[in-house]
Amino acid sequence: MKKHNFYAGPSILPQFTLDETVKAIKDFAGTGLSVMEISHRSKEFVAVMDEAIALFKSLLKIPEGYSVLFLGGGASTQFAMVPYNLLKTKAAYLNTGAWSKKAIKEAKFFGEVDVVASSEDATFNYIPKDFKVPADADYFHITTNNTIYGTEIREDFDVDIPLVADMSSDIFSRPVDVSKYVLIYGGAQKNLAPAGVTFVIIRDDILGKVDRPIPTMLNYQTHIDKGSMFNTPPVLPVFAALQTLKWLDNNGGVEAMEKVNKHKAGLLYDEIDRNPLFKGTVPNKEDRSLMNICFVMNDGYESLEKEFLEFATSKGMIGIKGHRSVGGFRASTYNALPVESVQALIDTMQEFEKMKA
Ligand SMILES: *Cc1c(COP(=O)(O)O)cnc(C)c1O
Repeated sequence: MKKHNFYAGPSILPQFTLDETVKAIKDFAGTGLSVMEISHRSKEFVAVMDEAIALFKSLLKIPEGYSVLFLGGGASTQFAMVPYNLLKTKAAYLNTGAWSKKAIKEAKFFGEVDVVASSEDATFNYIPKDFKVPADADYFHITTNNTIYGTEIREDFDVDIPLVADMSSDIFSRPVDVSKYVLIYGGAQKNLAPAGVTFVIIRDDILGKVDRPIPTMLNYQTHIDKGSMFNTPPVLPVFAALQTLKWLDNNGGVEAMEKVNKHKAGLLYDEIDRNPLFKGTVPNKEDRSLMNICFVMNDGYESLEKEFLEFATSKGMIGIKGHRSVGGFRASTYNALPVESVQALIDTMQEFEKMKA
């Protein structure tokens, strides 16, 4: 039976990425060696790194003056690296979920943190709208897509202070006006690559403003100066990331992805809103994520949750169990998820409706 992969992360990758990576694991670039057993300083791998950075920049139309880094440590290390490198006295954070909270916790090690707004009062099921960003903060940090709760900030905010974003789960899902940010980071395992590589887009002139000494590996300048080759980069995940970037490029780039993602999410949200057995967890339509679509059993049908999960699993739906803090279901519809998988989930929901409603 065909499996439909709705995992939130690590998550579905394009077949092209898998196929090319399998080939390179066996014989990389005609070297007769695996991509897993060659020097990261070999000319073949240096070419992979260079091409990945170039394609990353061109797909997101990243302006001059920015660097793209491929690091280890996951987005979670960035929670600390960002304030380590950028926080002088005070930073502003928007609290839109568990990942934001973790970022806030790390920032507090380095200075004052002004949480300008939070949606914690409603299990993070909306994006706060009325907040003021303090003019004297060193930067404003947002989480654009809240993977656990299914909310998303799809506009690139205009703020008067440097803007920093965790885009772990929506990078490359839409065009981004990178010029509005000084730093964008994310774990690559949601929409780009297998786990193990973290991307950072950083405006070079934002560095050098804090007085504290920064350990070498946690200093962005180290990695900018060495082109992500200060130490051994995650070679295999970077190789796989390049394949996904090529796939994106061959499939119309982020503009085309956004169109398809809107289509896929629209189909599923329409079904959730229509089907009497289910209800969405994010009431405001403008806050609904295109990447992680959260829903629960509707009022009166709560007791059917386990049964639907088993039914859906029997139909090949994988990874739709919601995060434990929200419950219910979460269908992650990343770039690589085909529309057929969304349709298969919808068919499953409709079949279940016929059995139960
Ligand atoms: C998954 C995720 C993280 C954590 O990423 P790691 O690479 O596991 O540290 C952080 N932020 C968001 C928005 C995520 O979805």
